[in-house]
Amino acid sequence: MTVYAPPGQPGSLISYRDRYDHWIGGEFVAPASGRYFENPSPVTGRTFTEVGRGDADDIERALDAAHGASRAWGRTTATERAVILNKIADRMEQNLEMLAAAEAWENGKPVRETLAFDIPLAIDHFRYFAGAIRAQEGSISEIDGDTIAYHFHEPLGVVAQIIPWNFPILMATWKLAPALAAGNAVVLKPAEQTPASILLLMELIADLLPAGVVNVVNGFGVEAGKPLASSPRVRKVAFTGETTTGRLIMQYASQNIIPVTLELGGKSPNIFFEDVVREKDGFYDKALEGFAMFALNQGEVCTCPSRALIQESIYDEFLEAVKLRTESMRQGDPLDTETQVGAQASNDQLEKILSYLDIGRAEGARVVTGGHRAELSGDLSGGYYVTPTIFEGKNSMRVFQEEIFGPVVAVTSFSDYEDAISIANDTLYGLGAGVWSREAAIQYRAGRDIEAGRVWTNCYHAYPAAAAFGGYKGSGVGRENHKMMLDHYQQTKNLLVSY
Ligand code: NAD
Repeated sequence: MTVYAPPGQPGSLISYRDRYDHWIGGEFVAPASGRYFENPSPVTGRTFTEVGRGDADDIERALDAAHGASRAWGRTTATERAVILNKIADRMEQNLEMLAAAEAWENGKPVRETLAFDIPLAIDHFRYFAGAIRAQEGSISEIDGDTIAYHFHEPLGVVAQIIPWNFPILMATWKLAPALAAGNAVVLKPAEQTPASILLLMELIADLLPAGVVNVVNGFGVEAGKPLASSPRVRKVAFTGETTTGRLIMQYASQNIIPVTLELGGKSPNIFFEDVVREKDGFYDKALEGFAMFALNQGEVCTCPSRALIQESIYDEFLEAVKLRTESMRQGDPLDTETQVGAQASNDQLEKILSYLDIGRAEGARVVTGGHRAELSGDLSGGYYVTPTIFEGKNSMRVFQEEIFGPVVAVTSFSDYEDAISIANDTLYGLGAGVWSREAAIQYRAGRDIEAGRVWTNCYHAYPAAAAFGGYKGSGVGRENHKMMLDHYQQTKNLLVSY
């Protein structure tokens, strides 16, 4: 067991600046307005740094820097860019513990996850896209005896990236790695709740990238995000966040006729068929862990399995087992490697979740376990903690239909296969889903019948770089990860040559 020291305490690996400006042209640049906002740690609720409050003027300065760097960067070879991406990955790996502890401090997530999952996965994305860009090929078509069509991949130019607060470094990496591999320059706006760990990363890799290739403007959605997403100087907007914000991003981008990638919300079903309990073996244990995934990252995951569908014939028995499993989760200091459930990322998010606990009760959902704020002691008493909660009710209830984004799962029963699929698909969203069955026919059919971009079968919450990720329906447009992502950051140049 290790407990990482908070910033400012002896032996702490976490060293945030007292104040962060924007990262523009390879250096910190103060906001044009001179205004800053406070950034509290969810672990204690106390402010640990302040951050420059960006606006349209700052976005213009960042776009100037990106346009200044874009042409030379776009003309580097794939191999040159791959070498740089691999160096970024190496640098992050050398600083894994520091990045993991810093991310846990700013976001409230358990350091055991940032050590084992967030940061290693971020590193792997840089390596994956370094490999993918080197392996990418153009094509040649012989039109007739004298005419040849050559097809080249070219970068888009300067792209905008806007990300949320639930996986700050990982979300930045999912967007930066393919965009840079493809030869684009970037202006990125982090979420206002979690800008600092991304700025820490910028400083860490500053000497590896040409100045201006990546620029970070901090600030709020309408003040900084909107001028970035609406700018006629960007060639694409890649956005991750709420479905309501995604609609606005699409409107802004439509004015400039540019493509968008939208990774939006979810209300993912996790379906447990009756054969799960046939034996109390390793498969059964794995299914219990699959259910418990609703509390991973305190439920602040777009693919959170926030609806659990359990077959009627095993309902009481399985619900009792998952209740016990949920009550065994260790909640506490995010900087302690034994902690499994940490703090919600912000006070606003804490209050939103608590309001949904009231909404659930008011609409008649039964609280099976949890259902309240977790009161922790000492320095943690001001932090934003919620007890992992199971609701039981009907799929028409708001707690089954609306994204809560907390450690809250809504459970209901189904009679047979068709009923399960009908409930699973009865949602605005279509991001993720889980299927738990020992029967190959059920696994395959359910995987195809569920309307979601990612269906985990007998597993959950794995995000390998080589697997395409994205939403059906209200969960988004486009895909991330997988080498197909390169297509989203490139355009095709055709040379038609008559010899
Ligand atoms: P959000 O939409 O409130 O904010 C996301 C980002 O958009 C922030 O940087 C914010 O400042 C910015 N923004 C807000 N309004 C804007 C506007 N009008 N113009 C431009 N930018 C604007 O989302 P959030 O609360 O930060 O994140 C949680 C949401 O993200 C959840 O819905 C979750 O499901 C979703 N999410 C999706 C994925 C995915 O891959 N599908 C991954 C992680 C999170």
